Amino acid sequence: MSVHQLKIGDIECAVLHEGESDLIAANLAQRYPGVSQAQIERALAGGAPSGSLNLPCISSGGTRILADVGFGAAGGPTAGNTEAALNSIGIGLADIDIVFLSHFHGDHIAGLALDENRMEFPRARFVTTQAEWDEWIGRWSASDAPGDQKNLERFTSLQDRFSFVSAGEEIAPGVTVVDLKGHTLGHAGLLLESGGERLLHVVDLLHQPFQFAHTNWHFSFDSDPELAEETRRNTLERCAAEGILTLFYHMPFPGLGQVSEEGGAFVWNPVA
Ligand SMILES: [Zn+2]
Repeated sequence: MSVHQLKIGDIECAVLHEGESDLIAANLAQRYPGVSQAQIERALAGGAPSGSLNLPCISSGGTRILADVGFGAAGGPTAGNTEAALNSIGIGLADIDIVFLSHFHGDHIAGLALDENRMEFPRARFVTTQAEWDEWIGRWSASDAPGDQKNLERFTSLQDRFSFVSAGEEIAPGVTVVDLKGHTLGHAGLLLESGGERLLHVVDLLHQPFQFAHTNWHFSFDSDPELAEETRRNTLERCAAEGILTLFYHMPFPGLGQVSEEGGAFVWNPVA
């Protein structure tokens, strides 16, 4: 397990490597409808697809935030390291004040929703957007699948501990919510700002390195593919124009780097 620690002004940020996911990295031609395996291989240009799961734990002004919880034990032998990674830097689940949920896909929430070996956060408040809550409570309610019913039961049992936030709201000093809707209807990220330094956590703005150059290749799990593409382009443009440090949930660990724009295409420049 790995942890990459950095400071954004006075804000401490530890990027935890939950592990690697085949669900993200395998069967890419099925994940990108309308794009052929040959196109994907050309776009990868000999590079490997990424299935990394990068979760930031953020401490600011005495508030400790875990942004998503990961697959937990549902991720198989290659994932599930969130709690161990936290423990390795002296943080227990009881030390988390806020669990921020960027969106309700399994690789971000399953560790919370399992029957067995699920992660309990005895003191935490759960924070997400109203649109995200509504989309998934609606989808799970309309489904008979056992996994969906389990999620529905778990999340409604936690409902009293949820608060809903909107873009621009500050959840801790210098930590504000950013609208990234499209991948899911309430998908949201976090902007960290302190002492003139900034980090933008864009979560699932894209899922593979080749989407920087091919922003119109839609990921099969996007709830609103057109909106996801528009948000992707606008956010990448902002990142490139402002030269801001960015964090991507699924880029190779630690998922930190800068976006630039070259000849009309976006380019990912990971930190060394
Ligand atoms: Zn994801």
